[in-house]
Amino acid sequence: MLLRQIDRWAELAPQQIAHQYREQILTYSELKTYSDSLACWLFQTLKYASGKRLPIIVYGHKESEMLVFFLACLKSGHPYIPVDSSIPPERLLKIIEASGATAILSPTALPEKVKSRDLLWREHLHLAAIFDLAPGHAGPLPEWQIGTTDVWYIIFTSGSTGEPKGVQITRHALESFVGWMTKEYQPKLQQEIFLNQAPFSFDLSVMDLYIALSQGGTLWSVDQQHIANPKDLFDSLQKSQISYWVSTPSFAELCLMDPSFRQKLLPRLRYFLFCGEILPHNVASSLLERFPQAQVINLYGPTECTVAVSGVSITARILASPGPLPVGQNSAAWQIHICDPDDLDRVIASDGNKELFLRSLPPGEKGEIVIAGPNVSLGYLNRPELTKRSFFTWTENDISLQAYRTGDIGYWLNGKLYYQGRRDFQIKLHGYRIELNEIEEQLRKLPEIENAVVVPVVRRHKNAALQAFIKLSDNFLELTSKPETAQQDWGQEIRQKLEAILPAYMLPQRCIVIANLPLTKNGKIDRQALRGGQDDSLC
Ligand code: AMP
Repeated sequence: MLLRQIDRWAELAPQQIAHQYREQILTYSELKTYSDSLACWLFQTLKYASGKRLPIIVYGHKESEMLVFFLACLKSGHPYIPVDSSIPPERLLKIIEASGATAILSPTALPEKVKSRDLLWREHLHLAAIFDLAPGHAGPLPEWQIGTTDVWYIIFTSGSTGEPKGVQITRHALESFVGWMTKEYQPKLQQEIFLNQAPFSFDLSVMDLYIALSQGGTLWSVDQQHIANPKDLFDSLQKSQISYWVSTPSFAELCLMDPSFRQKLLPRLRYFLFCGEILPHNVASSLLERFPQAQVINLYGPTECTVAVSGVSITARILASPGPLPVGQNSAAWQIHICDPDDLDRVIASDGNKELFLRSLPPGEKGEIVIAGPNVSLGYLNRPELTKRSFFTWTENDISLQAYRTGDIGYWLNGKLYYQGRRDFQIKLHGYRIELNEIEEQLRKLPEIENAVVVPVVRRHKNAALQAFIKLSDNFLELTSKPETAQQDWGQEIRQKLEAILPAYMLPQRCIVIANLPLTKNGKIDRQALRGGQDDSLC
């Protein structure tokens, strides 16, 4: 079991580095000692308050304390919710409300508004301060820990109804995922160094975090400042000796802009593990050319199915064949079906009617990707209606499995899985998952705005930014006749209002005032026209 596996490194290799972030180094011995100590304090402090396994929010960026807090929550019997400190306080408050979190721990400062809430909070909680909280403890008891079917973490993603939604991942799902990944990509015990690029609030980080810790490896974190300053980033990479690169393709694309990004910079590199968005053909081919000793793996999966469900090594042969790159191949670990979306609608609406069952479409036929198996989430935290719309039971040969309809369109061909775009208005921008409806909903809440449509701006076949088309409310119509500069200033004001509610990656770059939103022949808003005819399936 995963917690035991991680703790064992404190006995086998106490001085081995578990995490490195800038000047901060955390050994396996420290990871265990501090997390044990904090777990005792959490258990004593929270046990009587709730009697339930209520979640704890862990708020910060890449500090080593984050890892200690994650493990301490689990050892005291609470799932954790990782929240990156870059999000606006309003969004953090929404997550607190939606999750019913019982406590919030942070190695940095907490927003003032959070401290007035009725929950236990600790800010600037550094490693040394943890011992002051629980002096002379005997260690957490195994029976406090998160059980197999309990939730291990909850990750909040963008929600189409205007509110973020919390995906609950159980210990069993996570252990299945880690087991599958280590079998597929065989890291050597105690020898591997994993790049951690994604914030801990993004489930891609689960891949590097838990594969590294379970195998006695080192997690090497880079942060937003590194990413914004290529010199800083490359200085850090040069020292890193990374052997497993885990990131979004967008991040590797950024690195490729520097000619020194090649095997000489990372001589031990063996794997590029990509997930979360389309891997462009040219990125894969440049990487194979510059890193002849490394494999490029394209992984696919949504947060709801524990990071990734399939992966495929992109070889020179695959690159030479026309068409998109595959995102996976047959895997024995869980089931990946292609279904007719209308059949899915019917089965889900029937609420478990046994007469209706789904069948997989044959290879070559396009449909919606459905995933069934132990890796699938229990559903969205405290959102039963939303859960019912996407999660259901897949029954075949008297075996029932938890299943999730992804909203992704794809197909199987010659044993490989291909991704073809979305059925809805969810997009990926620089690796971040965004429901365009969520931004539109927030815009519509402003008194100046009657209706709004947000569309991605596509450059070189890739989402590059967002732009919002806005129809003003009657009281604000005079803006329509004002010069363009006045409209641009107003657009900036709107952006500032959104900044208080939405993370930076969800802010439209431009807000364009429009007299009327164009409609299709069916009377729906013509998003395609607003996108200037750009192809939806690319995003
Ligand atoms: P997230 O929950 O943030 O990991 O986003 C999941 C979504 O990202 C999936 O439902 C897909 O739409 C998209 N996605 C994940 N992996 C890939 C991939 N390899 N290629 C294309 N799209 C992907």
